Amino acid sequence: MEFKKCPRCGNFYVTENDVCHGCTNNENLDVAKLKGYFEEYGAGASVQDISIKTGINSRNLNRYLENEEFASFGKTEIGKEDV
Ligand SMILES: [Zn+2]
Repeated sequence: MEFKKCPRCGNFYVTENDVCHGCTNNENLDVAKLKGYFEEYGAGASVQDISIKTGINSRNLNRYLENEEFASFGKTEIGKEDV
């Protein structure tokens, strides 16, 4: 186990999760919103546009887009050629 710094609130914590215990609920809500967004609008919008539509702040949004789950959406925006 190692200490991790929560990317949402900056607290240090020790779990396997991406965020601290106190932020887990908000984190799950944001991820659910983002999934809903992609289901409705698909990929291609800028992070700023997604942030406005979902209410997720762009710092968290960038973090989600780096996750495997959303990587394909994030990469289509840049234009990935080796798919
Ligand atoms: Zn936190």
